[in-house]
Amino acid sequence: MPAEVVDPLVQKVMGAPDDMLLTVSDVFKYELKHTPHSFSSLVCDNCGEMVVEGYARILGEKKVCIPCYEGLTGAKE
Ligand SMILES: [Zn+2]
Repeated sequence: MPAEVVDPLVQKVMGAPDDMLLTVSDVFKYELKHTPHSFSSLVCDNCGEMVVEGYARILGEKKVCIPCYEGLTGAKE
């Protein structure tokens, strides 16, 4: 992209009013705060590490993380 095309875009961003930047920042914080709620996590019964539910494996009566599952069963995912 030629410099004469890029420069006006840079100028526009650098010259953005403060309230515009604050609005973007608020949305970003809002999304960050809610991200952990989209994952259910549990504790691996073998090593005690936090495991996102989708990455846990059932081993008999226990829920374990993938490294423990592989170590205990010898199976590879
Ligand atoms: Zn584990």
